[in-house]
Amino acid sequence: RANTAMHRAKASGKDNIQFYASTRDAAVAERMELETELRRAIPAGELVVYYQPKLDVETNTFIGAEALVRWQHPKRGLLQPGQFVPIAEDSSLIVALGEYVLRQACLQARLWQEAGLGGRTVAVNVAARQLRDGRLVEAVKEVLRDTGLAPACLELEITESSIMHDLDHATALLHELKGLGVSISIDDFGTGYSSLSALRNFPADKLKIDRSFVHEIETVPSAAAVALAVISFARTLGMRVNAEGVETLGQAQCLRKHHCDEIQGFLLARPVPSDEVQALFRQPGLASWDAS
Ligand code: C2E
Ligand code: MG
Ligand code: MG
Ligand code: MG
Repeated sequence: RANTAMHRAKASGKDNIQFYASTRDAAVAERMELETELRRAIPAGELVVYYQPKLDVETNTFIGAEALVRWQHPKRGLLQPGQFVPIAEDSSLIVALGEYVLRQACLQARLWQEAGLGGRTVAVNVAARQLRDGRLVEAVKEVLRDTGLAPACLELEITESSIMHDLDHATALLHELKGLGVSISIDDFGTGYSSLSALRNFPADKLKIDRSFVHEIETVPSAAAVALAVISFARTLGMRVNAEGVETLGQAQCLRKHHCDEIQGFLLARPVPSDEVQALFRQPGLASWDAS
């Protein structure tokens, strides 16, 4: 009888392994399929750029917007970046994706200038792999030349963790980019485990407080402490500071009280297609600032 039980255990163990192996294979196959489709989708123009406005707190006006990519997939519908940007980052596709978004965003910002929305900036996310690729500076130069966008209207967002991945290289590269007249923001700041002294000489113009801290700014003292420390660190080094992921009026009021320069988040607007962001730019910022 013991023998039978052992047989049964062995059989089911084997089934389990096969089960796990097949779900893992399915996930790998799905990724490979998306990667193949993305390779085709970029030149086919299936990527769509949405824009989320950024509000200057002091003047209560929209000063620009962040470009956030989506994929209008012919069968799967509108895909969010979390569903395909990591796949692109694992292959060299992120370089083509990044250049596509950069070009679209700069074209769009050029149209904003022509529509009488002068000075509005566009922010484009740059992936870690693009920092290593070697084509970034040329691509930025080329896109600025082709679109005629003033370099001061382009902001590049680079995450803290991708900078820390190779600080010396990133520092040299960003000096080169700043030489073109574009501005540099450090995205998801507070999550990248950087030493503050390493960032002291880093050529950035702005820190973006990661939304995980903003989310808990009113409720978790340690999150508020990080947010306020980032604001004061930025101020000391002469950088601007942005808070992303602002969802409630209380969060916005708290950030204003502590002199955060700009805010971005669902409280103001979700990322929207280009025509909608132009309309938002013309509207006053937050009407309810002083409501309680
Ligand atoms: P990110 O650059 O930190 O962008 C902010 C993300 O937070 C966006 O998500 C935005 O929709 C979301 N968000 C904005 N306000 C709020 C809020 O109030 N509450 C919450 N819960 N979320 C908010 P999205 O568009 O899904 O993009 C996710 C990430 O994908 C981006 O994070 C960025 O890392 C990456 N990504 C998006 N577009 C590009 C791109 O063109 N190139 C590269 N390399 N990465 C991109
Ligand atoms: Mg960003
Ligand atoms: Mg961010
Ligand atoms: Mg992020």
